[in-house]
Amino acid sequence: MTRYIFVTGGVVSSLGKGLLAASLGALLQARGFSVRIRKFDPYLNVDPGTMSPYQHGEVYVTDDGAETDLDLGHYERFTGVDGKQSDNITTGRIYRDIITRERRGDYLGATVQVIPHVTNAIKEFALSETDGIDFIICEVGGTVGDIESLPFIEALRQLRNDLGRDRTVSVHTTLVPWIAAAGELKTKPTQHSVRELTSLGIQPDVLLCRCDRPLPQSDREKIALFCNVPVSAVIPALDARSIYDVPLRYHAEGLDDAVLKVFGIEAPQPDVSRWEDIMDRLDHHEGEVTIGVVGKYVGLPDAYKSLREALVHGGLANRIKVNIRWLDAELFEGDSAELAAELESVHGILVPGGFGERGSEGKIASVKFARQRDVPFFGICLGMQMACIEGARNTAGISGASTTEFGETDEPVVGLITEWMSEKGLEQRAAGGDLGGTMRLGAYPATLGGNSKVASIYGTTEISERHRHRYEVNTHYREALEQGGLIFSGTSPDGTLPEIVERPDHPWFIGVQFHPELKSRPFNPHPLFAGFIGAALKQSRLV
Ligand code: GLN
Repeated sequence: MTRYIFVTGGVVSSLGKGLLAASLGALLQARGFSVRIRKFDPYLNVDPGTMSPYQHGEVYVTDDGAETDLDLGHYERFTGVDGKQSDNITTGRIYRDIITRERRGDYLGATVQVIPHVTNAIKEFALSETDGIDFIICEVGGTVGDIESLPFIEALRQLRNDLGRDRTVSVHTTLVPWIAAAGELKTKPTQHSVRELTSLGIQPDVLLCRCDRPLPQSDREKIALFCNVPVSAVIPALDARSIYDVPLRYHAEGLDDAVLKVFGIEAPQPDVSRWEDIMDRLDHHEGEVTIGVVGKYVGLPDAYKSLREALVHGGLANRIKVNIRWLDAELFEGDSAELAAELESVHGILVPGGFGERGSEGKIASVKFARQRDVPFFGICLGMQMACIEGARNTAGISGASTTEFGETDEPVVGLITEWMSEKGLEQRAAGGDLGGTMRLGAYPATLGGNSKVASIYGTTEISERHRHRYEVNTHYREALEQGGLIFSGTSPDGTLPEIVERPDHPWFIGVQFHPELKSRPFNPHPLFAGFIGAALKQSRLV
């Protein structure tokens, strides 16, 4: 029997509902249950794919090619369960589907309304593809009381009646702020938030109270009394020193016990040793490296969420601490002195994925620095494309090399991919088409050269990695680039699309067209990140 856990948030946003859902999923898994975590996003975009990272952080891509909310990255990293298209829904997608059906005449003359049509669509989504899963955790984006999230809360209210109380639990996250002038933690915002949720028909069963210092027993009792829950269901959640400490902390505070108690389930204690091992590696590291990430969205850490975590995982694999220096590529344009001053003190240079021309010359200059100075270099997606343009300009004599993404060029070393094969068959794209959902998205296989560095790093010559791009390195330039020392060491199985480039005469210089950071897990670090950090460690001993 599948049971449902609804996660909502109140008072303010950014309370870490995503981490709560991911940690609770991990704890239930550690008790032997199967879990799946889903995200309901109340905004009107069909998916976050067309949003700037500054709006909503990174766009996370699943194996099946869904462009989703970054919380799905937390879910995957914490549970190891691969997310799917059917794990993230937005108001925009629901309305698009309903309006398509309405135009087809599927509603047989009925007036189409938020209740029941939108709420039914939300319920269908929550209940779909649940066979054999013990717990479905549904996280609702936004804050309770927002106009946009009302249909979602209403659908959850209905589901509680449809399924019965023994199959649903509501976990509500709130803030208990410290008011310095009074010298007290204040429970009133929590009381108001629970009142708001209750007025919408949902009495929460468990409250997760975010606070920046220990919550006194008297405050727990007060919250329990005013919010109509047992004291054991008021879980204090203090700021953690690492996100990987959160499952351990929440378990210690009784979160999973409280949830199982409401369901009336007795279960063995969780085996949290994998989380203890991660914390041991973080707490007792054997060295440090600094990685310079040269990108465009460096002002907002969430824009590179998975990348940052994958670098941490690379550190876990080597038992060393990874410090990240976020460097704004735009500042490096035209000023090589500033660039050299920054890059001389890092042990590895990473140029991440991105879109658009701004900052590109700074990225290309960073590639050049890494190549000439033998500093470990890792280029991801746009980063690989920049490495190819740098190689074309400076090692293959093609001075006008560029990408058609930045405008017309006589030397399109990187150009629009117009055709490729996917599981669905031949995909075709033309310049000027729709931007939403039309990139080469999701997992595609690649074949690696037997003697390549990447084959030895992966330990295999057949890999599958997740993609999100519209442009591709142009194979017409392959020979010229290879003569300049930049080898195409991985391609699509039919050999038409370049997937990986590397420089055999460099200590560690690899560019990949896909996003390896999306498949890295703390307990299973991605080999490319483990290898890159290992190379940076060697570099740190040289400088
Ligand atoms: N803008 C490039 C493309 O569309 C790279 C995309 C990316 O880095 N994710 O191909």
